[in-house]
Amino acid sequence: METSRIPGFYNMTVEERRHLLTSMEIFTDEEAEYLFSKEPLATETADNMIENVIGTFQLPLGLGLNFLINGKDYCIPMAIEEPSVVASASHIAKLVRSAGGFTTSATDRVMTGQIQVVGCPNFSEAKEIVLKQKEALLEAANNAYPSLLNRGGGAVDLEVRILNGESRSKYSQMLIVHFYANTCDAMGANIINTMAESLAPVIEELTNGKVYLRILSNYPERCLAKARCVIPPEALQTDGFSGEEVRDGVIHAYEFAASDPYRACTHNKGIMNGIDPVVIATGNDWRAVEAGAHAHAARHGMYTSMTVWSKDEHGNLVGELELPMSVGTVGGSIRVHPIAKLAHKILNVDSAQELAQVIVTIGLAQNLGALKALATDGIQKGHMALHSRSVAIAAGATGEMIDMISQRLIEEKEIRVGKAKELVEEYKK
Ligand code: NDP
Repeated sequence: METSRIPGFYNMTVEERRHLLTSMEIFTDEEAEYLFSKEPLATETADNMIENVIGTFQLPLGLGLNFLINGKDYCIPMAIEEPSVVASASHIAKLVRSAGGFTTSATDRVMTGQIQVVGCPNFSEAKEIVLKQKEALLEAANNAYPSLLNRGGGAVDLEVRILNGESRSKYSQMLIVHFYANTCDAMGANIINTMAESLAPVIEELTNGKVYLRILSNYPERCLAKARCVIPPEALQTDGFSGEEVRDGVIHAYEFAASDPYRACTHNKGIMNGIDPVVIATGNDWRAVEAGAHAHAARHGMYTSMTVWSKDEHGNLVGELELPMSVGTVGGSIRVHPIAKLAHKILNVDSAQELAQVIVTIGLAQNLGALKALATDGIQKGHMALHSRSVAIAAGATGEMIDMISQRLIEEKEIRVGKAKELVEEYKK
């Protein structure tokens, strides 16, 4: 894609956007046909995805625009029901773009598997024996999934921990074997679980214990992606607020979240506002990404901010977000869900590592959008104006009524369903 700057996209009709994106060759006529069809995910396909299917549930799909990441342009598909998220991400991406864009990095895609062993006659000895067999165990894990090795991945490391070794309760004493495997472009849950199950009998034999759980950990601390942006204060200036005031407000807001779990929870929810929609649109497991992100935010013993905001020696605002990112470009439902397939095409990423970097970037952008609004006008001004259309629809407005009523709600500064119902009644008279 040449650029993700598409001025005026916001004001186009859906049909105009469809024609524009087709002319930009972001998707073909045929792909546009099913994206814009009534049933983009056929019930028959859905019935093969999960159990007890009775239909499908749709979410709006929007495009986060203006993203420049490591010098490459991205239009980012976002599946979300909440107004203002896509607008805010695109607004911040435009602002950061003017400052040179985002820079990102990522570790190898190394996921973690856990094997729980209980009832060992001697836990310390069992630990030593397992560690001595590390290479053989890694080989056994790789034999359970040889295709990964061919792709340059596979099991790479193993650690052992004893939990509650001094406890008098036999239920709480356990040996935990952690193994780490590079799952390449797959999220890796099934791959890791297959490896864990294949190692279990060998580990039982080595430890003289009994294996109960053998499963992926959703906190993949060795599968991290990081995004960074540096913004000069001039770029942050808004009506009534100098760039320095906005910058300082953002840093104060961050410090609040860094020190207070009650604020951190909301702060991080805002970050996930950007992350989840991309994870969902790309057919990935958003529960896994959510769980990993929150575990990471509590890794030092206190739940805290996922992002870090500071001022550099030139007075620029510097933002960073590093999170575990268990996403894939293959596997799971990614190649099954037609819209997820199209989302990958629109995103144009070559690997799961690249996808992970795009996703943390949008989380960082979303966080800045929220902090910038909070540090200036407050969140409600922009959010409620965009929310007004949903309020109008909830009150029964249809067709041209939606715009008229949403406009009246904004003008009268009363964006509530009760007020919208009164206006719908008035319109019908
Ligand atoms: P899959 O089981 O679909 O495995 C990915 C498959 O993709 C591999 O079998 C591999 O097959 C193939 N593949 C093709 N190209 C590549 C490549 N470049 N890199 C890696 N693999 C490639 O998916 P995952 O193991 O990723 O599991 C993800 C699913 O598991 C998600 O749906 C998730 O919801 C679910 N899940 C999540 C759990 C959790 O989070 N705790 C627990 C259990 C399941 P081959 O090598 O044969 O070509």
